[in-house]
Amino acid sequence: MAKKKARKEIVLQGIAASPGVAHGRAFVFLQKELEIPIYKVEEPDQAGEIQRFEDALMRTRTQIADVRHEVAEKLGEAEAQIFDAHLLVLEDRALIEETIQEHHNTSYNIEYCFHSVSKRYLEAFKHIDDEYIKERVTDIRDVTKRLLNNLLGHCSSTIGRLTQQKILVSEDLSPSDTAALDRKQVLGILMDAGSRTSHAVIMARSLQVPAVVGLHDISRKVENEDTLLIDGYDGVVIINPTEETLYRYGQLKLQRESIQKVFESVIGLPAQTQDGKHVELLANIEGVDDLESVKQSGAEGVGLLRTEALFLRKDHFPTEEEQFELYKEIVQALYPMPVTIRTLDLGGDKKISGVFFSEDEDNPFMGFRAIRFCLDHVDIFKAQLRAILRSSAFGKVKLMYPMITSYAELSQANKILKECKAELKKKKIAFDPDIAIGSMIETPSAACTADLLAEECSFFSIGTNDLIQYMLAVDRINDRIAHMYEPNHPAVIRTLKNIVDTAHLKGIKVSVCGEMAGDPLYVPLLLGLGVDDLSTIPACLPEIKYLIRNMTIKEVQTLASKALKQTQPKAVFNLLQKFYLEHVGNVLQAQDGQE
Ligand code: PEP
Ligand code: MG
Repeated sequence: MAKKKARKEIVLQGIAASPGVAHGRAFVFLQKELEIPIYKVEEPDQAGEIQRFEDALMRTRTQIADVRHEVAEKLGEAEAQIFDAHLLVLEDRALIEETIQEHHNTSYNIEYCFHSVSKRYLEAFKHIDDEYIKERVTDIRDVTKRLLNNLLGHCSSTIGRLTQQKILVSEDLSPSDTAALDRKQVLGILMDAGSRTSHAVIMARSLQVPAVVGLHDISRKVENEDTLLIDGYDGVVIINPTEETLYRYGQLKLQRESIQKVFESVIGLPAQTQDGKHVELLANIEGVDDLESVKQSGAEGVGLLRTEALFLRKDHFPTEEEQFELYKEIVQALYPMPVTIRTLDLGGDKKISGVFFSEDEDNPFMGFRAIRFCLDHVDIFKAQLRAILRSSAFGKVKLMYPMITSYAELSQANKILKECKAELKKKKIAFDPDIAIGSMIETPSAACTADLLAEECSFFSIGTNDLIQYMLAVDRINDRIAHMYEPNHPAVIRTLKNIVDTAHLKGIKVSVCGEMAGDPLYVPLLLGLGVDDLSTIPACLPEIKYLIRNMTIKEVQTLASKALKQTQPKAVFNLLQKFYLEHVGNVLQAQDGQE
């Protein structure tokens, strides 16, 4: 379909994913389907076309061999063997000869011929019900993409190479794409897919880049260099905004900035309710780049270091030494504040493509993820555990495991941790022998067996992002059902209450580190249910602290018991919204009145 350059102002509504107003030109980043050009090549140029193919094959082989070498060195031979399969695809004479034959028969350009032939192969293999063949399909797909990128002269991702400030428009971004972003060049993010709790979005929020997601087809509507305006507070996107619209949003931006200033006025004050309850406010971080914002936010420590971000950012698996240096840097920089380091939570939407994870997992969020991956790759797990333990000699470190679903899993992880401690002890390497161990409670099975899990750990951290998706059977990244992802659902509220009550009976503390903890609407409910600490991205902390300082524990307990009696999520929402407006509304109104 031919696209017409739109000049008229177009207003689109999506999901407000990361707050802020941004204005700038579009950079459209399409990645799902490579666009393969099709054209005829004249007879005299056909030898050159085949040479181009041979060159691309050679380049692709070298790239794969390099990756293989690196994986073998860092992770061992067994893990590197996946790339042998990739190299074999490139040696497959049938695929190569057929491509050349296709070129001779049709005179079409070589990338088009290669694309057609590999598509035929994939199609034929798709219908064969055999595990080995299924794996080959993934290999062929990976290699084909790499080869086509080489033929087309693309680098696999241009996203990290923006040289001018732009608004990034994409069908979908993976957490690795987001990790590659240069914050200085990305003014805002717009996505067809996504939801508030997809990892790419969480990362955008932590980078403080305004974002609107769930826009369905914005990547097709917008062209490079179109002018865009993003209102990340209300999830609105305006293509080709008029002068009047720009003025209106300029005013909104000023108003929001002055509201933020009021919240920030409490940064240096304690997070204490009016009736004297102190709430520990902690930060969720992804790495050293977040250290400055932790310090500026008034956080009392780190409640969640998502270590997988380090793995996604690198083009290789970080070694124990690399991890140790990084954890140590964070722990030392924040000393004497505590740093809770979570072990690898790869899988789900956090994949390192081509390595370990088949692209074809039918249900990745319920698949080979997090602690399951670690318990299956004990060497990788142990390297991380040793790195974390070693960093504990340099400050206050807590360790926690993601995606625990059973007592057996948690005790197996602890058993491996014990082995790591013994190894370090034997080598006389220092670590904190009493390091606190926590379990994330983010699966319904963990929530139901919290009493058992409490026997194997000394704190809980509730991952509401996952807990809600699993409790409600609502995929956290599917924008079509984003409206069903309801933190106010009675099933969620009751479960939170049960976890907290069980933990307290067992004498251990509970924090929440999912996105609910950073949402001022839900904070009173969580504290009313008895949650002890909250951990969220640093940018959210000033408002949360302002709210805590303006309420009492008594009133949030009343609020929570009312919420527990509701039958409908909307009724809970209304209660929470009323509470929020009663406690923070004056700030919003005062700044509104100034405009
Ligand atoms: C969660 O699930 O709430 C959580 C904090 O973990 P993540 O978002 O990294 O899955
Ligand atoms: Mg989680």
